[in-house]
Amino acid sequence: MTTKISATDSLDGRVAVVTGASSGIGEASAEHLASLGAKVAVLARRADRLDDLVARIRKNGGTAMALTVDVTDTAAVQTAADRVQAELGDADLLFNNAGVMLPAPIEELRADQWQRQIDLNISGLMNVIGAFTPQLVRAAAERGVADLINNSSSAAQNLYPTFAVYAATKAFVTHLSKHLRMELGPKKVRVSAIEPGIVGTELQSHVTDEGATAWLEGSKETIDWLQPHDIARTVGFIASLPLRVNLPQVFIMPTAQPS
Ligand code: NDP
Repeated sequence: MTTKISATDSLDGRVAVVTGASSGIGEASAEHLASLGAKVAVLARRADRLDDLVARIRKNGGTAMALTVDVTDTAAVQTAADRVQAELGDADLLFNNAGVMLPAPIEELRADQWQRQIDLNISGLMNVIGAFTPQLVRAAAERGVADLINNSSSAAQNLYPTFAVYAATKAFVTHLSKHLRMELGPKKVRVSAIEPGIVGTELQSHVTDEGATAWLEGSKETIDWLQPHDIARTVGFIASLPLRVNLPQVFIMPTAQPS
C-alpha cells in the first residue's frame, strides 16, 4: 500500500491495532478509530466482548478483526501481529493500552498483585511493541507516518497513596515512550504517551484493597470522572494530526481532579 496520509481528521487507509479492546478505554478507542475510517484489529482475552465490538463496528460500516490473545504471552502476540499483517496489511497505528491497576499498602506484601501489574503493564506492553514495531517502521517508510501510542497514567507523574507499584509501571511506560520517540521519530514513527487521570471503566472493579476502593469511590463526590470516549477522542486526535506534528506526552485530567 502506498497511500500518503493527508492532514485531516480522517484515518482512511490506516491500519490500527488496539490492545485491551474488550472494555473501557480500548473498546471506546477502537470504535472511535473505526468511525474515523481506520481498519481496526482488536486484542484482549475475552472473545465474546471482542466479537460484539467487531459486530458493532461492521454494522456501522467499518472494518474490524478480533484477535483473542493474552498479551503477556510473547508467542501469541507475535502470531496475532502476523495475522494483522496478512489480513489488513502492516499496522501503522498501535494503541498499546491493556493494563491493570491493583493498589495496596506495600506492607501487605501482595507480591502476586505486584507481579500481575509488572507482567501486564510492562512485559505485556513490551511484547506488543516487539511484535508490531517492524510493521510500524515499514508502514511509516511506505505511507509517510505511523503512530505508537502507549497508555500510561497520571500516576506516572503524581503520587497516590498505596499505588506505588502501579505508578512505577506507568513511569516505565512514560519514560520508555520518550526514549522510543528518540529512536523511531527519525523513521517517521510518532511516539506518544498518554497520561489520563481517573476514567470510569472496569479498571477500578479489579481493586481488592478496601482503602483504595473507598478513596476512589469518595472521589466521585467531588470529581466528574473522565469517560472512555474522552480518551478515545484524544487518541484519534493524536493520530490525525498533520504528519509533522507529534504529541510526545499528553496529560489528560478530569477538570476537578487536583493531582
Ligand atoms: P479496563 O479494565 O476496562 O480495560 C483493561 C483492558 O485490558 C481490558 O480490555 C482487558 O481485557 C485487557 N487485558 C487485561 N489483561 C490482559 C491480558 N493479559 N492480555 C490482553 N488484554 C488484557 O480498564 P481501562 O480501560 O481503564 O484501562 C486501559 C488502560 O488505561 C490501562 O493501561 C490503564 O492502566 C490505563 N489507565 C486507566 C485509567 C483509569 O482511571 N481507568 C487512568 C489512567 C490510565 P480482557 O480482560 O478481556 O483481557
